[in-house]
Amino acid sequence: MRLYNTLTRQEEEFAPLRDETVRMYTCGLTVYARGHIGNFRTFVALDVLRRALEYVAGFRIRQVMNFTDVDDRTIAESRAAGVPLREYTDQYIAAFREDAATLGLEPVEDYPRATDEENLRSMVEMIQALEANGHTYTSDGSIYFKIATLPDYGKLARLDHEGIKPGARIDADRYAKDDARDFVLWKATASDEPTWDFGVGPGRPGWHIECSAMALRLLDGAPIDIHAGGVDLVFPHHENEIAQAEGATGETFSRFWVHVEHLLFGEGVKMSKSLGNVFSVQDVLERGYRASALRYVLLSVHYRKQLRFTWGSLDQAEEALKRLIGCLARLEGIAGGADGQGGQAHPALADRVETARRDFAEKIEQDLNVPGALGVMFELVRHVNTALDDGELGPPDAAVVKTAFDGFDQVLGVMALRRAEDATPAVPVDEIERLIGERRAARARRDFAAADAIRDDLVARGVILEDTPAGTRWSLK
Ligand code: AMP
Ligand code: ZN
Repeated sequence: MRLYNTLTRQEEEFAPLRDETVRMYTCGLTVYARGHIGNFRTFVALDVLRRALEYVAGFRIRQVMNFTDVDDRTIAESRAAGVPLREYTDQYIAAFREDAATLGLEPVEDYPRATDEENLRSMVEMIQALEANGHTYTSDGSIYFKIATLPDYGKLARLDHEGIKPGARIDADRYAKDDARDFVLWKATASDEPTWDFGVGPGRPGWHIECSAMALRLLDGAPIDIHAGGVDLVFPHHENEIAQAEGATGETFSRFWVHVEHLLFGEGVKMSKSLGNVFSVQDVLERGYRASALRYVLLSVHYRKQLRFTWGSLDQAEEALKRLIGCLARLEGIAGGADGQGGQAHPALADRVETARRDFAEKIEQDLNVPGALGVMFELVRHVNTALDDGELGPPDAAVVKTAFDGFDQVLGVMALRRAEDATPAVPVDEIERLIGERRAARARRDFAAADAIRDDLVARGVILEDTPAGTRWSLK
């Protein structure tokens, strides 16, 4: 598997260091608001990376994705809402889990929260190790990382050391590259802010120390194999994570750094809450699009290229998915519900399928060339449709082709998502049952207009009612 490593600015051959198990850390959501589809572009791309490492390269995976549930933004927003921090962030963690499932993200092995006590303790331990190694100083009760003590500070973001102002420091969690300064590890308690005291004085962690500490605690120490996130995290977040982890342990923090380019919206600006141009997964569904189409859009552009999101791109994705599903439905018809035995096999077609499987895997192994892999898959769709038209595809071939598509979908995860959507009514079952009860009551009082309105509403949402002597039954359209 070849992967582009931001640290070396090169594609490199990737294999895990220990036990054929990829130890991977992904910077998760800062839970001060519901995640938007820009965030999920990164999460979907990294889900495809996880699946590729698992199903194409054949490695085991141990992946950690954190929730940043204490930082400048979560504190500011929970305060504005008048809700305690932990309670405030709970709702966005729940929303993340819902959206992640909706988009078919494979669950990762661990979702730590920064404010869990064992994590806060590991942050304090890392700060103490940095103090012991001479990388810190204290000012007004806050502890800072002194970047001049680490000669290779800036190696990930390729900072120009000339521009760094020695001695100047910054308290904000997020700042620009030309503001490279000593950054805060532990912020002294400010009025109204949550505070913890586990050995370095009362205060709260800076954003960057959270990830360094949780990554090393949960992935069995340095070096981890892959650290990933969106491109905006290269500086300062990941640069500072390296400084902390390497300053504390003296070892390489992460062997590979993977960064996903941004999703842009409208006039080509980054989708971000601070710009007010955000849509959530739920917003997209409310416009009548399906999550499988959104997942397809989010993965269809190479992860190192910017993705310009438009509503039209969702329509195109829907078309592409229909082509795929249509082809699979025709194959099911050929297999005739049997196990694919019997009938004539066409060796040329089997060869063709084998070539497509190999090409698909090759594209994916080439720094996750998903657009290339999709091209291979749709070329096979075209070929299979032609063979079906010409009567040159029998039940044994259908089984071979279907297995190939199942293999593609282990990486892409769109068809499985589509099938799950089809099997799940858009209306929750208890709501359907409640509405059937209301309709029955309307009919009993001879309010047929109300009864019909209920039925029409359900039909519009894909649920069909059938009145039988045994009562009303429902099914999906
Ligand atoms: P945050 O909640 O800001 O910490 O971001 C969570 C993840 O989403 C990080 O990996 C970010 O780099 C990523 N991200 C934020 N905005 C975008 C965007 N517009 N496109 C792609 N990824 C993004
Ligand atoms: Zn992080």
